[in-house]
Amino acid sequence: EEKQRANIIRPIDRGVVHQICSGQVIVTLSTAVKELVENSIDAGATKIDIRLVECGSKLIEISDNGSGIEESNFEGLALKHHTSKITEFEDLGSISTFGFRGEALSSLCALSNLTVITRHKDNDQKVGHKIEYAHGGTIASRTRCARECGTTVILKDLFYTLPVRHREFIKNLKREFHRMVNVLYGYCLVVNGVRISCSNVVGNGRPSEVIAVPGFSTMRERIVAVFGSKQLSSLIEIKQTDAVPSEILSEFGLPEEAYERKYELEGYISQPNQGRSSNDRQFFFINSRPCDPAKISRVINEVYHSFSRSQNPFVCLHIRTNRENVDINVTPDKRTLYVQNEKILLAILKATLIPIFTAAASSYHSLSSQ
Ligand code: ADP
Ligand code: MG
Repeated sequence: EEKQRANIIRPIDRGVVHQICSGQVIVTLSTAVKELVENSIDAGATKIDIRLVECGSKLIEISDNGSGIEESNFEGLALKHHTSKITEFEDLGSISTFGFRGEALSSLCALSNLTVITRHKDNDQKVGHKIEYAHGGTIASRTRCARECGTTVILKDLFYTLPVRHREFIKNLKREFHRMVNVLYGYCLVVNGVRISCSNVVGNGRPSEVIAVPGFSTMRERIVAVFGSKQLSSLIEIKQTDAVPSEILSEFGLPEEAYERKYELEGYISQPNQGRSSNDRQFFFINSRPCDPAKISRVINEVYHSFSRSQNPFVCLHIRTNRENVDINVTPDKRTLYVQNEKILLAILKATLIPIFTAAASSYHSLSSQ
């Protein structure tokens, strides 16, 4: 009889399904923090403060001065696929916000203890609300409290509902933390006029400042704010070429007339002899979205290595193109993008970088032979 029962197809408990799926949306500390920072940016914040305890494993707290959350949205906030940002599927083509799936808070809530403190900008009673959510996304408790306009999201004990993931997370905490800081650097480099700070407390120690950048409006200023002026002075500006030579076009299997000004490049890259030993400072953005474009990164590194074999470049590259040329809905973390006519973009990059590196290299050679 036992055996027969085991063969019956039954629905998995909804709470369990939710937990399993949430583990695929929020995979690491980096994805958790990234989602919360994006929510703050989407809410129009100009100031975002991140407070971590034990590198984020005990507590992650993100406070912003954005729009806040309306009382009518408290119920749906942490429920799956509840979002204020997209209502129709057709909207997908015109998304300008980072979020659109309504999955982040619902997933975070299944994987940790979620508390939200918020006051909406139109709330003139001058009080905020503190809402604690149960793992399933429903409200567990709700009280009034003092709060300026904006939102604070608090996550306690990330991943503790998934014991295996939690153990791995704690084991690799240092590495996870460094990855997360790198992801934050990405936002610091691309967002315009948003002050971002991040601090971390370990043991009984005092909070140590991890990141503190004022909201600057140019990439140049932001690079200096994040990495210092010494880093900037080792870089050259990426000025986009006007023409792609036919041998580069054919290298990418493109016809003679393929070059179109569909993409606009803005960025900085190491001079050929001033790279780094590791490739940990490479930041790519498409239409202001931090991303990990594998092929773009490969071409850039290959061209660099043809000038400087043993070093890796610092790269900060922003590619702008019409929204219909990119699909961001490829992976849950939206860091893999599908770029239309990517080969043309790769050819443009190569044709842009070769003359820049050639010029920089010849100027050292003439300096050193003087
Ligand atoms: P998405 O960002 O895809 O809409 P989330 O789960 O990240 O989904 O957030 C759900 C909703 O909660 C958002 O659509 C937004 O309305 C609200 N929200 C989340 N974080 C904030 C915040 N920091 N400030 C204001 N509203 C927020
Ligand atoms: Mg979101």
